[in-house]
Amino acid sequence: MNLIEELQQIHEQAISAVSAATDAGELEEVRLRYLGKKGSLTQILRGLGSLSAEEKPLVGSAANEVRVGIETALDEKTRAISSEALRLQMMQDSVDVTLPGRRRPLGRQHLIERITREVVEIFVGLGYRVAEGPQVELAYYNFTALNTPQAHPARSPSDTFYVRDQSVETGLKSHDSEVLLRTHTSPVQVRVMESSKPPIYILAPGKVYRRDIPDPSHLPQFTQVEGLVVDEGITFADLKGTLEHFCHEMFGSDRKTRFRPHFFPFTEPSAEVDVSCGICAGSGCRFCGNTGWLEILGCGMIDPNVFEYVGIDSERYGGFAFGMGVERIAALKYDLPDLRMLVEGDMRFLAQF
Ligand SMILES: [Zn+2]
Repeated sequence: MNLIEELQQIHEQAISAVSAATDAGELEEVRLRYLGKKGSLTQILRGLGSLSAEEKPLVGSAANEVRVGIETALDEKTRAISSEALRLQMMQDSVDVTLPGRRRPLGRQHLIERITREVVEIFVGLGYRVAEGPQVELAYYNFTALNTPQAHPARSPSDTFYVRDQSVETGLKSHDSEVLLRTHTSPVQVRVMESSKPPIYILAPGKVYRRDIPDPSHLPQFTQVEGLVVDEGITFADLKGTLEHFCHEMFGSDRKTRFRPHFFPFTEPSAEVDVSCGICAGSGCRFCGNTGWLEILGCGMIDPNVFEYVGIDSERYGGFAFGMGVERIAALKYDLPDLRMLVEGDMRFLAQF
């Protein structure tokens, strides 16, 4: 076989090797095999010197044509491979906008949380600020500083959850240092009055605990929102106006309110507030026990004894406090027959609100 034929064979083999290559690595192998330092075409070009003067230009130009042919084929195939790789990459990265989206499960506020926020918002609109305190509290803040006598039944372990009775450890018969789960959010009021000066306009929302067996109208853990005002020249008329405004905002402007005298250790005078029944509009029905009224909160003017505990001058300042159960407000607003429904976690019920 003469050199020209050999060159043609190299050309054909190289072209078919190029077209069989599937990636850049294989193409590089083909290039080295034919055009590399030890490549078959290179070997022939190196041997040109030993040819005769007639053969040299013929073989030389034929070898050059073969080299150009192989290089062109390699270039074309390189471009084809990289554009194919790009196409595949784009296909992988593309977004099919016609596919349906993945839905995330949507959470919502629990009814109690929602109503708590509604109550807070009404009073924040009147200039109150939110105050918080510990749920595990000292008996001093929960009872004593709120003018609750040592013998008061609310202090008994059958009414209140005690965390620790310190008198057992220390031998001291000091009820004030006993640790308990707060039975109302009123200790927050004491802590605020201790640590800040009037004027005070605060709202204390939070969880409270009482040793009750759960039934349609009682839960051992429930939510309270209490309010406290301490300022100069505060009268019972301020208290009445504030709570009437609240009832209209919460239940609707057509609802009436009434104040009934009551007793709380930390307020004097004290009252319970009723709102007219939304179902019978005050004419009497089963929901309101045929009275036409629903009890919604307790309130009163701060007892001067409480001011004394926290060092506020009761000659100069007056104040009022009020407290309500959020679960009860929810039950009245949505005609719920049983408070336990609010804590059982049944989504069929909770998702209605
Ligand atoms: Zn009614």
